[in-house]
Amino acid sequence: MTKPQESQDTPMFERIALIGIGLIGSSISHAARRANLAREIVGSARTPATVETAMRLGLIEEGYVTAAEAAEGADLVILCTPVGLCGPIAKEISRSLKPGAILTDVGSVKGAIVKDVSPHVPQGVHFVAGHPIAGTEQSGPEAGFAELFDGRWCILTPEPHTDGKAVEKLRAFWEALGSKVEIMTPEHHDLVLAITSHVPHLIAYTIVNTVSDLESHLQGEVIKFAASGFRDFTRVAGSDPVMWRDIFLNNREAVLEMLGRLYEDIALLQKAIRNGDGTLLHRVFTRSRRIRRSVTQAKQD
Ligand code: NAP
Repeated sequence: MTKPQESQDTPMFERIALIGIGLIGSSISHAARRANLAREIVGSARTPATVETAMRLGLIEEGYVTAAEAAEGADLVILCTPVGLCGPIAKEISRSLKPGAILTDVGSVKGAIVKDVSPHVPQGVHFVAGHPIAGTEQSGPEAGFAELFDGRWCILTPEPHTDGKAVEKLRAFWEALGSKVEIMTPEHHDLVLAITSHVPHLIAYTIVNTVSDLESHLQGEVIKFAASGFRDFTRVAGSDPVMWRDIFLNNREAVLEMLGRLYEDIALLQKAIRNGDGTLLHRVFTRSRRIRRSVTQAKQD
């Protein structure tokens, strides 16, 4: 694996286009510059303010109003927008994509994106969907930093007919950004992420909303004593609402499947509490603690 600190003598790409320059887009720019992966990085966003900020921060050399202009002539185009926009943007940039270019994305859902983007990928352009398993609850171009991907997994979900060289080049790119890369099908990705990321976020959003529905004096107490566990949920529930709306709308089946399993397990614990079944509670909590330790040992905490 290429060490993230090692800078390449010759950039891997001539021109990288970031479509969307928020937390993930800006972090890609920082990490790509750290490893000298591009001769030039350009980008577009929805609002001129984001493009201006990205220019001021030196994240991009050129900023454009439209995604099509940004994608023009790029040999790597990365869609870094909310999931629901990937299909429409792929359609918009389709004619601007250079033959031989690699088109990828960073969306947290893969099946829907592969389905939405693939019809707009011209012959000779290689689409390899991707998802870095790294992030924070912050958004926008100022939230990014070069170390975001260091030691984190990035999942690529190429299709069986995808050009092998393009997949390997994208793998090398993510490794140079600091990530470890795994390849799987979009369906498998969506199932794994439903339980490791999407359902936990749904739980956090639910708990925080339940609290906000409580009477005002109790709310005060909750904020005051937040350190007792609630605080971590508020951090997760502070994530971008548009991004998470799109994730749930686009990974419906896998999330519903995992929620069904979760309801069953909650009912089991509910019954154990009602029956005073300390043995069962202790067994479940001991198992959970082991899982927490393996997450820490894998340096994914
Ligand atoms: P973000 O900070 O909110 O940034 C989103 C960017 O998309 C902004 O620059 C926004 O521009 C731009 N955008 C919105 N509509 C656009 C359009 N029509 N054309 C061009 N740009 C447009 O979001 P993020 O956290 O970087 O997330 C981006 C993607 O990464 C999402 O698909 C998400 O699922 C995935 N992801 C996120 C995380 C995480 O923890 N945040 C982790 C892994 C993957 P404006 O600023 O002008 O609105």
